[in-house]
Amino acid sequence: MESLTEGALYRNTLRTLESAGDLIKINANALERLKLPRRAVIVSVPVKMDDGRVQIFPGYRVQHNQTLGPFKGGLRYHQSVNLSEVAALSMLMTFKNSLLGLPLGGAKGGITVNPNLLSMNELEHLTRRFTTELNPFIGPDKDIPAPDVGTDSQTMAWMLDTYSMDSGFSQTGVVTGKPIEIGGSHGRECATGLGVVYTIEKALATRNRKIQDAKIAIQGFGKVGMHVAIEAFALGAKILAVSDVSGAIYHPEGINITQLKKYIDENKVLKGFPNAQGIDGEELLELDVDVLAPCALDGTINSTNVDRIKAPIIVEGANGPVTMNANDELCKKGVLIVPDILANGGGVVVSYFEWVQDIVWLFWQEDEVRQKLKTIMYRSFDTVWNFAQEKQENLRISAMGVSLQRLEKAMKLRGQAW
Ligand code: GLU
Repeated sequence: MESLTEGALYRNTLRTLESAGDLIKINANALERLKLPRRAVIVSVPVKMDDGRVQIFPGYRVQHNQTLGPFKGGLRYHQSVNLSEVAALSMLMTFKNSLLGLPLGGAKGGITVNPNLLSMNELEHLTRRFTTELNPFIGPDKDIPAPDVGTDSQTMAWMLDTYSMDSGFSQTGVVTGKPIEIGGSHGRECATGLGVVYTIEKALATRNRKIQDAKIAIQGFGKVGMHVAIEAFALGAKILAVSDVSGAIYHPEGINITQLKKYIDENKVLKGFPNAQGIDGEELLELDVDVLAPCALDGTINSTNVDRIKAPIIVEGANGPVTMNANDELCKKGVLIVPDILANGGGVVVSYFEWVQDIVWLFWQEDEVRQKLKTIMYRSFDTVWNFAQEKQENLRISAMGVSLQRLEKAMKLRGQAW
C-alpha cells in the first residue's frame, strides 16, 4: 500500500479528509475506509510503435469508492502519471461526486506517457490495448472513464469502440466525453470550464463583485482553461493573462480571447500571439488580478511561490493546484480559495448528464445542459458557502465536510463500515 499513499497529492488529500472528518465528527470506521481505495489495477500496455519497436507503458485504474453509484472519473495521459497520483485523484472524484449530489462513486486512471511524442496511430493502439486490459473492470454499470489531462473525445471514441467490439454491440455508456455523433452530450466539451466560470461568479458575488468588472489570470489553456477564458470573456471579464506549454502572455487591458483562439487553432500554441506581451509562467501566478484560475496540473501554488501570490480569489480549475500548506497560508491572509472538488465539478456533472442520455437514448439541447449545470454549480457553491459560514472554516475543508456528510449517511444506510 505504501506506493499508493506516498505521493504529495495523496498526503494532502488525506490531510483535508482528516480535518473535515474531525469537523463533522465522522464515524471512525467510515473515515478509515475512505482513506484507501477499494481497488487499484496496474497493467502493462505494449504498443508496436511506428518504427517497429515494441514499447511498454505502465497504466493504472484506481477505483476508490462506489457507495453512491458506479465508479466514475477521468483517464490521464501524462509523463508524470504514477500510482499514488492516480489514487489521490480517484479519492478526489469520490468526494467531488458526493459533493455535487451525483449518483456516482470515484475512480481515476492514467498511463505514464507523453502523448505529444506519439503519432495518432500509436495513440490509438495504446488506447485500444489499455481498454482491453481494463475490460473486466469497466462498463456502463461498473466504472465509466472520461477525458482528463492529455486525453480527449477521440480517446473516448476508441475506448467505446474497443469495449463494444468485445461485447458484440454498441455500449455508448461505457465512457463519457465522447464525440456528439456517437452518443456524446452537447456542452460536455466546455463543461468543466463553464462550471469554473459559474463558481467564479459566485465567489465574486460573496465580495459584492461581478464577473463583468473582474480581471482574471488563467494558468493553462487546455480543455479546462481555454473554456474558462472563452466563457468568462463572453460575459465581459478582462482576461489579463493566459498560459500554455509554450509560455504565458499578458495584456494590461485584457486579451481578446476570440482572436487568441483563432491564433491557436492556426499555430497550435499561444507563443507569438501578436496582441499581447510574453511573460514568464511564474509571473502569471503572481499577477495583481481579482481572480486567479490555475487550470493545469497539481502543486503549482506551493511553499516556493505562496508568498508572492496576490489574487484575493483563487478558483481551482485543475485538480490539486494549491498544496495544503499553501492553502493554509493563503486562507490565513483572507484569500478565498474555491477548491477543485467544487470548482471543476462541471465536467463530471455533464458526464453524468451524458451517461443518463445514453441510458434513455434521448438527447438534450445545449441550452438545457448549460441551465442544468448552472443550477447544480450554484446550489453546490451555496451549500459549501453556508457550511463554511456556520462552521467558520475555509472552503476546502467545508467542501470536503459537505461531501463526507452525504457519503457517511449512505455508508451507514448500506451497512458499510459499521
Ligand atoms: N476528468 C474530469 C475530472 O477530473 C472529469 C471526470 C468525468 O467526467 O468522469 O473531474
